[in-house]
Amino acid sequence: MILVAAGSGVRLGAGMPKAFAPLCGEPLLAHALRGVFGCAEVGHVVIVAPGSHVLQSREVAGQDARVDVVAGGVDRSASVQAGLGALRHDDGIVLVHDVARCLAPTDLFARVIRAVRAGDPAVVPGLALTDTVKVVDAQGRVLGTADRESLRAIQTPQGFLREVLEQAHAGAASATDDAGLVERIGGHVHVVDGDHRAMKITTPADLAVATALLQDGPYAG
Ligand code: C5P
Repeated sequence: MILVAAGSGVRLGAGMPKAFAPLCGEPLLAHALRGVFGCAEVGHVVIVAPGSHVLQSREVAGQDARVDVVAGGVDRSASVQAGLGALRHDDGIVLVHDVARCLAPTDLFARVIRAVRAGDPAVVPGLALTDTVKVVDAQGRVLGTADRESLRAIQTPQGFLREVLEQAHAGAASATDDAGLVERIGGHVHVVDGDHRAMKITTPADLAVATALLQDGPYAG
């Protein structure tokens, strides 16, 4: 699996790369690794780290021989490509996961892997939307209202047959997620149920929500 963790975290404002921002006393990267390795089906993890934090990432991973660390690129797609270059021979199904979704639970990883094994070459977790979504122009004028029933908010981990992910990235194109690149080459992408705990930590408010999720309460665990 490829764990992309090379983002700068400017919007989080922690004064350090997001992967190292503390959440309940531990870096996001440590939380993410715990979720990943809670899933027995995950064998090998490539952490794609900020160039300035390769050694620190290695330290967070400890001596775990299942982990390799490489430096990331200028954007998320470039970082995934760096991760692809560090996969091992036997990584036939590849998950790509954002460290920003560090509370993604173990059963979500298992669900995505199961769907790829069952025959879907590209699988993404998605949640139904509760907000109404409108398309607007640069002046803020509303151009239309999307049909909410057919929309999903897409999360990670996303799972792929390795050759499909490699083909999708072969054009060195850029996208906000990997499934988007698969769609561009005409590939089929299948959605499975997402999980609210796989929320993306981007802003300080997200960090507060993640802290609440980690503490005992109706949404924890
Ligand atoms: O910037 P964005 O919020 O889309 O980042 C999503 C994920 O991609 C984060 O986990 C971040 O660490 C990662 N990323 C990366 N390399 C970059 C930019 C983002 O690994 N150059």
